[in-house]
Amino acid sequence: MGVNNNSKELFEEQQFKYIDRFKKFKLLLRDVKTNVIKTYKTISKVFDVHDMRPILIKKGNWNQRKISKIDTIIIHQELGIAYPNRSNSFAINEYHRLYNHWVGSAYHFSIDLNRIDLCNNFGDITYGAKNWNERSLHIVVCGDFAAPTHRGCQKPLEIQLILLEFLIHKLLENPALPNLKDWEQVIGHNEATGKINCPGNILTEKIKIWRKINGGN
Ligand SMILES: [Zn+2]
Repeated sequence: MGVNNNSKELFEEQQFKYIDRFKKFKLLLRDVKTNVIKTYKTISKVFDVHDMRPILIKKGNWNQRKISKIDTIIIHQELGIAYPNRSNSFAINEYHRLYNHWVGSAYHFSIDLNRIDLCNNFGDITYGAKNWNERSLHIVVCGDFAAPTHRGCQKPLEIQLILLEFLIHKLLENPALPNLKDWEQVIGHNEATGKINCPGNILTEKIKIWRKINGGN
């Protein structure tokens, strides 16, 4: 019973369920211009995807692919780039551009404190996981999380987990991604390559649970 069988109505129901789960959280949102974190009472905008592509500075262009090549979603963590605060799409983009000398952020999406940022086009072949980039969409959860050989100083926020799960559902439902339909196509970076510390213990466990409850392995 993969999520690909869900009707539009079911998806809307699902979205409602997520929003319900959100009601218990105090909403902390980062102001993109000032980087200040504020408290909001409304949840109406939380599930919006924020298009960061016009804001993030790129150095050149990523190689391009046909969208039909995409058949995998790979989940990442930050691994301590921005200790002691959780990082954000800007910081990751600058780190990858200035220190790794890449075009920009290696991730198509970032899950910030509690917002979803779109950072690259689906057609961009970014550098998220060696030998997997032509086929993958990369999502990073901002934070420094414990992993087999990495101490980590933070935990994924419950809000981040909800947003991540929601975003994955949304991508698997997206008719523009014809070969990305099932939770079995969602993996951690550690499952793709030998990067054992990405995305960390909690996210690795979560991905397995989500695959299971959504009909995968
Ligand atoms: Zn990774």
